[in-house]
Amino acid sequence: MALYVQKFGGTSVGSVERIKKVAERVGRFRKEGHDVVVVVSAMSGETNRLLALAQDIHDNPSPRELDMLISTGEQVTIALLAMAMEQQGIPATSYTGAQVGIVTDKSYNKARIKKIDTESVKNDLNKGRVVVVAGFQGVDEEGNITTLGRGGSDTTAVALAAALKADECQIYTDVDGVYTADPRICSKARRLDKITVEEMLELASLGSKILQIRSVEFAGKYQVPLRVLSSFEDSEGEGTLIIADNEEHNAMEDPLISGIAHHTNEAKITILGAPDIPGVAAKILGPISDANIEVDMIVQNVSPDGESTDFSFTVGRGDYKKAYSLVEKCVEEMGAGRILGDNAMAKVSLVGVGMRSHAGVASLMFKTLAENSINIRMVSTSEIKISVVIDEKFTELAVRTLHTAFGLDKPE
Ligand code: ADP
Ligand code: ASP
Ligand code: MG
Repeated sequence: MALYVQKFGGTSVGSVERIKKVAERVGRFRKEGHDVVVVVSAMSGETNRLLALAQDIHDNPSPRELDMLISTGEQVTIALLAMAMEQQGIPATSYTGAQVGIVTDKSYNKARIKKIDTESVKNDLNKGRVVVVAGFQGVDEEGNITTLGRGGSDTTAVALAAALKADECQIYTDVDGVYTADPRICSKARRLDKITVEEMLELASLGSKILQIRSVEFAGKYQVPLRVLSSFEDSEGEGTLIIADNEEHNAMEDPLISGIAHHTNEAKITILGAPDIPGVAAKILGPISDANIEVDMIVQNVSPDGESTDFSFTVGRGDYKKAYSLVEKCVEEMGAGRILGDNAMAKVSLVGVGMRSHAGVASLMFKTLAENSINIRMVSTSEIKISVVIDEKFTELAVRTLHTAFGLDKPE
């Protein structure tokens, strides 16, 4: 019999009815004789509600108190789910991250798991109990509660599966697998039977929020069999299996593109006419990184006159105002340059290991965007992805037309 770690996200536990359904599903696995550890998220909307409460009280709440606050969402769900299981005659015990020994570093709001003490979980499993663990949270070595970043329950589940050497980590969500594009904006998207860790890492980092990137990193590093499935269908189906990169396959048969990711909420800042001398990029970006603002794409143009150049970079929209004022200060100090800013940008990316052995992906991408009058503001490439920054209003059009152009649409 197998050991499964099953994670249920916010919408899958979004109401009392949904929680009862989760208990029924877990019960079916128990009846088949499997051991089950369940990881749950907060009920849908709850983490955002808690964050909004904090904002109503303080403009810039302390990261420690924020974690203390937002970790409570998951604590509600574990208790309710354990009760739902007991009600259905399934012995179950709930644990917070701290109780189950998920020890993290000290980086509040984006903590990394350092170790997991699986003793109590194993004891309960040996007694035939289902263990219900709060996702998204841990505890640092001094006993402070930490959280793992938005979407972090995925990472709790995969890390637990790695620590327990589970047979499979199953991520149950509101879609029945990983699709060629977000099915909410691209109705022709197709479910993938499998996808490599490498591709999934790219999709996750480029905005497909189906899996938190760290969960995919864990799955790759510890070789955890990871599957994405629907919690809304009565039978599980096959979902999408995330397969190891080195699993045998014929590279020539890889589809050119496996998936399209998009990410809105991007902002772009350009400094026109910055001095073209060594050290300018560092001068502009130094204060941005000191302020803990993550910079994504960076482009510096050739300098037509040999003296000045244009320099652009993107940040998350939430950091736009702060980044803009830091750049303003920098331009003032340099005594040169003019700033252009746009906070309604999006990034659309094509991902596929097949790109390695096929040329022409970029040209088809650019041609397709041009045919739809979508202007490309920035481009960045790596071995298995191409990303473009475009005006946010064109996001859906770009995803859909690229999906068709690269032959990803499901059959009519
Ligand atoms: P959960 O609350 O279960 O963690 P999330 O909202 O975090 O669920 O992730 C599931 C959502 O991810 C889906 O509803 C879908 O809109 C979105 N999504 C984005 N890209 C993809 C993709 N390529 N395949 C499937 N879903 C995707
Ligand atoms: N509740 C957390 C969030 O909304 C963690 C998760 O759902 O995975 O980000
Ligand atoms: Mg999620």
